[in-house]
Amino acid sequence: MAAAMRLVNKKIFTPGMGQHYLAFTTAAQVYSAGIKASQALPETVKIVEVGPRDGLQNEKVVVPTEAKINLINMLSESGLTVIEATSFVSPKWVPQMGDQVEVMKGIKKKPGVSYPVLTPNLRGFQAAVKAGASEVAIFGAASELFSKKNINCSVEESLQRFDEVMKAAKEAAVPVRGYVSCVVGCPYEGKVAPEKVAHVAKRLYSMGCYEISLGDTIGVGTPGSMTEMLEAVSREVPVSALAVHCHDTYGQALANILVALQMGISVVDSSVAGLGGCPYAQGASGNVATEDVVYMLHGLGIKTGVDLLKLMDAGSFICRALNRKTNSKVAQAACKL
Ligand SMILES: [Zn+2]
Repeated sequence: MAAAMRLVNKKIFTPGMGQHYLAFTTAAQVYSAGIKASQALPETVKIVEVGPRDGLQNEKVVVPTEAKINLINMLSESGLTVIEATSFVSPKWVPQMGDQVEVMKGIKKKPGVSYPVLTPNLRGFQAAVKAGASEVAIFGAASELFSKKNINCSVEESLQRFDEVMKAAKEAAVPVRGYVSCVVGCPYEGKVAPEKVAHVAKRLYSMGCYEISLGDTIGVGTPGSMTEMLEAVSREVPVSALAVHCHDTYGQALANILVALQMGISVVDSSVAGLGGCPYAQGASGNVATEDVVYMLHGLGIKTGVDLLKLMDAGSFICRALNRKTNSKVAQAACKL
């Protein structure tokens, strides 16, 4: 597949394809140029904004509830349609998310926008629904050691624990998103086998998760290892049900997202201002910045529905609240203009 993709890219740039290259602005046009749809870029991409949860959870500073609410409202005003709002875990584990009920009740729910929340168990699920959540997310690791060290059980046991959440969600008609972490590398195990990721992704999908987000939790992936992993997973789960969640620890996130798009994935997780760090590498960057993803997608002629300037306003706002510099390259560049 890697070789096939290189061939496709070369084809796009050959002189004989010149006229198509000039018109290369949408996936449909690439398709009409005779390139197989599976190798073309999607026309639109859904961005899942994870800053208010995944991002803020990994920041040292605990942000006041009012600022979180304001951030989520600014993000929905920018045109994002999925904003992961908070997490219904015990404040003992994650003090940054201790105000989950206030956040869910305080945000202005914009029609057409969904605000999923993380629910690690049935108690979390029930509290989330009570607080008004209409979509939830669960998570499994692809690495045995990561699962053991973080939640003290095997990967299989962790998946079984979600059975009751899945059952309750089905009864309440609440859609569930599944996360797989450590999809290319693990801080304890090193390289993670693509087949292992495919297995966990397939389990979550067959349990009823409508979308599986594949997380490079420590950001060690490269376009090479991402391709290998995505090939294995897409043999088990339809590409239309997959999302990528890339961290920029080694500066590979945008390149990794690009190969995922070339393989037909059209859902990308990202975090405004690149919020969040990497708990395994002090001072390293965390989630890829939404501003940078939007800039790249728009440059490829892919629609996102996001207003980049409004998004950057949300990024500046939360950076002021955290008293830190943005991790978005686009926002850093724009500041100097
Ligand atoms: Zn993340």
